[in-house]
Amino acid sequence: MTNFATRIDSVSISGIRKVFDAAGPNAINLGLGQPDFPTPSHIRDAAIHSIQNGNSDRYTPNSGILSLRRAISQKHSRDNSLDISPDNIIATAGGSEALHLAIEAHVNPGEKVLIPDPGFVSYRALTHISGGIPVPIKLRDDLTMDPASIESSISEGVAAFIVNSPGNPTGGVQSKADMKEFARIADDYDILCISDEVYEHFVFEGSHRSPMEFSKSNNVLIVNTCSKSYSMTGWRLGWVAGSHERIDKMLRIHQYAQACASAVSQHAALAALSGPQDGLFEMVNTFKQRRDVLVDGLIDMGLDVPLPKGAFYAFPSVPPGWVENVLDQGVIVVPGSSFGASGSGSARIAYTVDSTQLEKAIDIMRKVTHSV
Ligand code: PLP
Repeated sequence: MTNFATRIDSVSISGIRKVFDAAGPNAINLGLGQPDFPTPSHIRDAAIHSIQNGNSDRYTPNSGILSLRRAISQKHSRDNSLDISPDNIIATAGGSEALHLAIEAHVNPGEKVLIPDPGFVSYRALTHISGGIPVPIKLRDDLTMDPASIESSISEGVAAFIVNSPGNPTGGVQSKADMKEFARIADDYDILCISDEVYEHFVFEGSHRSPMEFSKSNNVLIVNTCSKSYSMTGWRLGWVAGSHERIDKMLRIHQYAQACASAVSQHAALAALSGPQDGLFEMVNTFKQRRDVLVDGLIDMGLDVPLPKGAFYAFPSVPPGWVENVLDQGVIVVPGSSFGASGSGSARIAYTVDSTQLEKAIDIMRKVTHSV
């Protein structure tokens, strides 16, 4: 057999996948990081029309069709009060590719990336794939990241830090003051802040702010996606936004690795971002109701759970054996250790099922909690 590149040995299949493989076919799935809603029909229709009109038959410009990049630019002005030129945006194959471009274009082999711990599984893996060194940053008790922890971890060889608010797996939402601090740190130390804002609309208390609003340099990149807000995880359409110089460098990778994001998904995303937003707000309201039911249930059964103010995850501390027992009883949850060493002793519970299934799962979790 031929040899493999050594960097691939530093990456393994995500712990989330292992949990799915272990679960039975009738399990209640609280392990999936995707909304359980259909993609709204006007978005599907736009995709169908683009196929029927022949608008999706060909490569698009590498960075994406101009109308989509304009819609993304307008979205940032509408939702984030940011003025981002369509030229400073690349449409990508989901937020995942956007994260890959950001890290690959900015991190030299041996350089460090500060990542939240617990944090989204891709940060560690993508840093390794780029030859960089992920440095876990422990979160506060409320599961948000303390800018002071970032600042005190900056040393020679730190290329970037990642902010993820609302956060996966925690549901933590960073305050405006934190975001200002992250921007200041990126400016003062001249290092890159990658702001992963894929859950920006899923905020139940407070509001989402981007560090880009406060940065005086060009050191903040935004990663975002249609996956969560429009229930489009299968469409694979995200984007990265940043300064012209950074976009130019990331485009060099995107151009050769991807050529362009899927044309049909670009047309769907255009409809998503520029069309009616009521489906999104209804979905967020439903998630808030489920969040309340789940958190009340967890507290009631005696578990300690910081209030998740956003995303669609709760991250309670759980007793030893709890995750395995819950899985045995047919409820899929993800062990917190899948998201970093500081996640051990916790579990990620995604409330991406309807309320009947959620109530059933809570009952099972209650019985397990009382038995372990
Ligand atoms: N960032 C975070 C925090 C996520 O949770 C996810 C997906 O779960 C992504 C990025 C990737 O999003 P996409 O599905 O658009 O690739």
